[in-house]
Amino acid sequence: MVRVINIAVILFFFIISIIFIFNPFSYKSSQENGTSNKKLILVVEQDTFYIPFKDGEFNLYSNVVDINGKKHPAYKSIDYIIKDETVSVTHSDCANQICVNTPAISKCGDAIVCAPNKVAFIIDCKDTLKAE
Ligand SMILES: [Zn+2]
Repeated sequence: MVRVINIAVILFFFIISIIFIFNPFSYKSSQENGTSNKKLILVVEQDTFYIPFKDGEFNLYSNVVDINGKKHPAYKSIDYIIKDETVSVTHSDCANQICVNTPAISKCGDAIVCAPNKVAFIIDCKDTLKAE
């Protein structure tokens, strides 16, 4: 059963990932600085925030704490691993498993998108969420 809202959500995440992947400025900034200024954005439904980009195994089963210590209710059946500045999804309850099959992301603008769960991991190098 594919409903119009599902298509809209998939399209939305698809567009987001395209924008981030093909954004030329994000690649530029990391190369110019020489040092790593990578941040990790987590998108859950309408909520978008930075999560700590530190090695470890994590999940989105309950609350997710952002870099400011604020809790965000996620409640998604998703496991992910951060290792050496790469992010990969190791488990998800979604039907298509695209997120699990996406290779680990490491570069500015890279994204792992789980459209059925409305979740996305995006590596950000240009303080996209500065306004918050
Ligand atoms: Zn998925």
